[in-house]
Amino acid sequence: MRTCCTIEEIRFALEPRRSGTIGLVPTMGALHGGHLSLLRAARAECDTVVMSLFVNPAQFGEPADLSGYPRDEERDLALAAETGVDLVFAPPVGEMYPPGFQTWVDVTELGGILEGAFRPGHFRGVATVCLKLFTIVRPDVAYFGLKDAQQVEVLRRMIRDLALEIDLRALPTVRDADGLALSSRNARLGPAERERALALPRALATRDRDRARELLEGLDVDYVEVAPFDPPVLAAAVRIGSTRLIDNVPLEGDAP
Ligand code: AMP
Repeated sequence: MRTCCTIEEIRFALEPRRSGTIGLVPTMGALHGGHLSLLRAARAECDTVVMSLFVNPAQFGEPADLSGYPRDEERDLALAAETGVDLVFAPPVGEMYPPGFQTWVDVTELGGILEGAFRPGHFRGVATVCLKLFTIVRPDVAYFGLKDAQQVEVLRRMIRDLALEIDLRALPTVRDADGLALSSRNARLGPAERERALALPRALATRDRDRARELLEGLDVDYVEVAPFDPPVLAAAVRIGSTRLIDNVPLEGDAP
């Protein structure tokens, strides 16, 4: 496995690999089983697997959320190597946002509802960094988790709207045995907070918006809504102490 920190380096490393298929798994690090399921799928389906490792400041609102985001690059690189990643792209912020940066991608409607309403600018940051990663890596397939269902919807829209030649693969949410969706932010929960956080998957498992709202009463809830995605999902965001958690369940097909 090779780690590249500049755009020039990763482009050069990819050049001899372009005759085969290239899979890209964008991540912000602090890898867990959710990330690993994307990496394994990419490994099974593509000749070359690229993982990006970049905590994207543009998609964070609150400065404390960005500064407190868990980081452990050494562990991430070891896990990536174990999972069969060929190339890691881990640029410093200045490589992705050079001085004077002022070009943004805004998926105007889908990026403004639900998460977008509570985190203004979040999906603008996501879409912009993903488009930049797509133009740098030029993957045939890009892998994303349905844990972030709105992100998948926004990126699918961007890919269609801008006629990008990329196949987006969306994979199911990976959960802990107790039902909590794996998330890098779970590391911030204390034991009592984690116990309270379990109300989120339990509420969503009802697949009923009103029942879910009842089960979340007493928690600091940003929203519980049926999201008009393909397929529709019941999505919610709650704050447990200083940690904000999101989760969703698909409303069509078998319960996961
Ligand atoms: P992040 O590092 O949080 O930006 O996540 C990188 C990718 O992993 C995104 O496509 C996420 O949707 C996906 N992901 C995060 N958590 C999970 C999970 N529990 N199950 C499946 N995919 C996930």
